[in-house]
Amino acid sequence: MQTSTLSQIAQGYQAQAQCLKDKIVLVTGAGDGIGRAAALAYARLGATVLLLGKTQEKLEAVYDQIEDEGLATPALLPLDLGRASFETIMQTTHLIAKEFGRLDGLLHNAGVLGVLTPLELYDPSVFEEVMRVNFHAPFFLTQAFLPLLQASQAGSVVFTTSTVGHDLRPFWGAYALSKQGVEGLCQIFTAETRHHTTLRFNCINPKATRTNMRTHAYPGENPFVLKTPDDIMAVYVYLMSDASVGVKGQVLEAQ
Ligand code: NDP
Repeated sequence: MQTSTLSQIAQGYQAQAQCLKDKIVLVTGAGDGIGRAAALAYARLGATVLLLGKTQEKLEAVYDQIEDEGLATPALLPLDLGRASFETIMQTTHLIAKEFGRLDGLLHNAGVLGVLTPLELYDPSVFEEVMRVNFHAPFFLTQAFLPLLQASQAGSVVFTTSTVGHDLRPFWGAYALSKQGVEGLCQIFTAETRHHTTLRFNCINPKATRTNMRTHAYPGENPFVLKTPDDIMAVYVYLMSDASVGVKGQVLEAQ
């Protein structure tokens, strides 16, 4: 099936109540923007969500909302992905292994924009941070969680890309390169696991969505013409639910 057709199917996906019941799903960047909306959407469909993000207060606010709605108790994983070592990530993995024994879904959503400037002028320390958060962390986390994802009956790993990840544009520097890398990670993991796992890897391109990052990238734009994170959740739910079992190595557009 063509990717555009699959995107349309996913955008129109109508989730059944409790379709994520008993699934354990980790969302990075769960405290704000699209990640916050995804964590709440997954919890409302029955998942136990593991909330990973940089700012503890934001994660706690999402945690409180989930508790207030009487949903499955989430877990808080405050972690700065720009600084976390592989050893720290492994410690998080061990905690989750001990508590849950498996992981059914992993949404790599956390991201930073960096700066929009020619590569000639790009600050190397900003470049490094963007690559750490947007590219290295999805690789480290996926590698570290592979045994737990393989322990799921139908594990799903979802990377977050952007149009500039496959349509490299001037001035988007580290951000575009990190997203290109993420699309590559998705392809290679898919190819390397094709014959011996039910685990699937796909990418979502959310496209223009009303969040803090979008405002920073396009300060002159009227945010009220954009879809909100809640408006684009159908594709996020589709890829995390069993409706997408067998869908592998795709880049789906969320709108
Ligand atoms: P936001 O800036 O609103 O949210 C980004 C999230 O990532 C926040 O929860 C933030 O946590 C977290 N994060 C940032 N740095 C770190 C870090 N070092 N460690 C852990 N978590 C971190 O952005 P969006 O919601 O718009 O973006 C979500 C994803 O969608 C990103 O990958 C982005 O590249 C992608 N995307 C977005 C588009 C859009 O139009 N909005 C378009 C295309 C792609 P905290 O708030 O605590 O810093």
